[in-house]
Amino acid sequence: MQAKEIIAKKRDGLENSSEELTFLLEGFLSGKIKEYQLSAWLMAVFFRGMTSRELSTWTELMWHSGNTFERVGALAKTEKSYWIDKHSTGGVGDKTSLILVPLVKTVAEQRLKSIKVGIPMVSGRGLGHTGGTLDKLESVPGFNPQISTKRALDLISFQGFFMAGQTESIAPADRLLYSLRDVTGTIESIPLIVSSIMSKKLAENLNGILFDVKTGLGAFMPTKEQAVQLAQGLVSVAQRQGLDAVGLITQMDEPLGWKTGNFLEVEECADFLKGGPREKNLDELVLTSAAWMIHLVSQKKVTLDSAKEMCFEILEKGTAFSAFRQLFESQGGDFNAFESEREQFRKNYLVFDFKAEESGVVSSIHAREIGVLLVELGGGRLIKEASIDNKVGFEFEKKVGDVVERGENIVKVYYRSADELSKIKTSFNRAIKISETTDRPQQRYSILGEVIL
Ligand code: URA
Repeated sequence: MQAKEIIAKKRDGLENSSEELTFLLEGFLSGKIKEYQLSAWLMAVFFRGMTSRELSTWTELMWHSGNTFERVGALAKTEKSYWIDKHSTGGVGDKTSLILVPLVKTVAEQRLKSIKVGIPMVSGRGLGHTGGTLDKLESVPGFNPQISTKRALDLISFQGFFMAGQTESIAPADRLLYSLRDVTGTIESIPLIVSSIMSKKLAENLNGILFDVKTGLGAFMPTKEQAVQLAQGLVSVAQRQGLDAVGLITQMDEPLGWKTGNFLEVEECADFLKGGPREKNLDELVLTSAAWMIHLVSQKKVTLDSAKEMCFEILEKGTAFSAFRQLFESQGGDFNAFESEREQFRKNYLVFDFKAEESGVVSSIHAREIGVLLVELGGGRLIKEASIDNKVGFEFEKKVGDVVERGENIVKVYYRSADELSKIKTSFNRAIKISETTDRPQQRYSILGEVIL
């Protein structure tokens, strides 16, 4: 077999066999097949796509380049245990995972007593205009996101959840391939994205998974059609591996929730789970996602409507907050220190109030622009190695659809220096639009569709 022929077959729109794909990946990992050859094949896949057989094989090869969480002893797969995770394709202000883990755990513990739920959540860091769960978690002083597989499994056994970064042993082929795709213009290929995401998720040895595929101005998938295609790919690969899987298509035109910026977002999650105010788009997304997760965990015995009701009650009572706190403390986080920093940082950082110049209705808060502004303030990174300031960010007082009077505040900006603020000030007028209208503001929705195959 020759790499050149395998590449040419894909270039010409033919199907690569399982043996050819195995030869290609194994050859790449052992150094026999060069980066320039794999890059050519990746570009051919970018233009020609993959058949469903190729996609399954390629995903399995990447998954098996590393280890899978072992479910033995108390963690064994039985009818009475159910492991579930949720994957979001990422956005601006997307803090949903931090709320879902403690919420689903608490609802399952209180209402599905006969099932032992496990939520092994392996997450990533932010890059470019989108935020990352690990960066948000690190806003709590001392929190350690880099735990060993053994520690991760001990946490599942003891409390039913953990949130951590990918270890070296999870799908190592994906790390190498992703770096190559990043520099060869081959990230935006649906089968390559599906195999990349699924190789890591399959290593978690789950029973079920919920995908949140975002679309809109701040999303990886700009159009709803692309988001649906990606969700279909993810759901069908997961189902072929025996998992229950559902995809939600969700809106990412404006930042999610009231706050954007790592520390501010953890604050928002804490208040949300304590029974405090809940921004309506975030609330809708959390309730729908949590309801789906509970519905799957119950092996569909609890209807979606009842599951949503259960989640709503727990949020109203604020009882999932203790699991949220435990999430940080079980991985070294000092939550009391976080609570005192909430007071302190507002005294240490500069604040700029962005006010409406005209009365009207907020018609757009451009998610991507806000994400880019956050990077410019020091709160996000353009390269993987960059360090970030967790405390800078935006606290919105108005969201899209809200009526605003001239001179009223739209957003508070927490920043470090006049220099940094002056660089972003003019961009605000591009990011936030107010329309003069007497129409009633349109209802905004988070959930745009569901993919259930
Ligand atoms: N996220 C991943 O994990 N992989 C991709 O290819 C794209 C987004």
